[in-house]
Formats: sequence, structure tokens, C-alpha cells
Amino acid sequence: MSNKPSSKTSATPSKPTDFEEALEKYREHLKRKRLLFTRERIAILEEVMARHDHFSVEELHDSLKAAGKKVSRATLYRNLDSLKEAGILAEVDLGNRHVQYEHVLGHGHHFHLVCEDDGAVVEDSSAEIEKLLEALARKHNLDLTHFKLQIFGTRRRK
Ligand SMILES: [Zn+2]
Repeated sequence: MSNKPSSKTSATPSKPTDFEEALEKYREHLKRKRLLFTRERIAILEEVMARHDHFSVEELHDSLKAAGKKVSRATLYRNLDSLKEAGILAEVDLGNRHVQYEHVLGHGHHFHLVCEDDGAVVEDSSAEIEKLLEALARKHNLDLTHFKLQIFGTRRRK
């Protein structure tokens, strides 16, 4: 473990603490994997942490491009894999056959409710459901670390 400063008065107050945490986590992950912490990787991490939605690789590629950061798709895919391994990013299956991602660091346990009529996605959480899942995991001798819950439905008519 590194002794990172845990002071809340960071030198970059515009960046949320989530980003600082992600940066530290990613740095350690890359070190373990003996990979370099390049400017390109930082740019990708910044973009991933700045987004609070679900996004595809294409969308990420576009927004990086719009920000003047040119990253090839191959590099992007490789980096997304690293970010997943580091526990910063997760794949979300929203039932539309496209792989989408979201950052999980600083973004608590939640599940997705997907409208099958228009594909609209809402996030929600439930302490009750989480308690049930924890109990279920414990029953099988597991400590719950995360879960993926996707709920699909059609819009209710009055
Ligand atoms: Zn989500």
C-alpha cells in the first residue's frame, strides 16, 4: 500500500475526489502490471470519470476526439480492459446488444431499469434488495462485492 496523502484540500480543487481516487487506483494497477502511466491513459481515465452515464466505446472515442485527444480504437479497447481490471469501470448489459460501460468507482451499488419501448435507462438502488443479495451471497459463503441487476419492462399505461 502506498501512503497517499488523504488530505481533502487537493491541489486540483476542480477535480472531484473520485478522480483522485481513480488516478491512484489506476496508477497502482498499472504498476503491478508493469505498464506505463502514459498521458493517453490519463486522458482516457479523465474522460471515463467525467461521464456519469452509460457509454459505448464509440461515444467515448467521439468525446475524446472532440476534446482534441486522438486515441485509436485499439488503444481505447485495451485501456478499457485495464480500467475494468482495476475496478474502475464496468460493462453494463442494457439488453440492446451494444456493450456499454460506466464507471463504478465512487458510484455506489445500483441497478438499471430499462424501458423496452424506447430504451430509456434509469438507475436506482434499494437497501432492502441489497440486504437480500448480501444474505444470499453469505448463504453461499461469499462476501458481496458487487452485483449487476438489470430490470426490463414496458411503459405502464394509465
Ligand atoms: Zn449504471
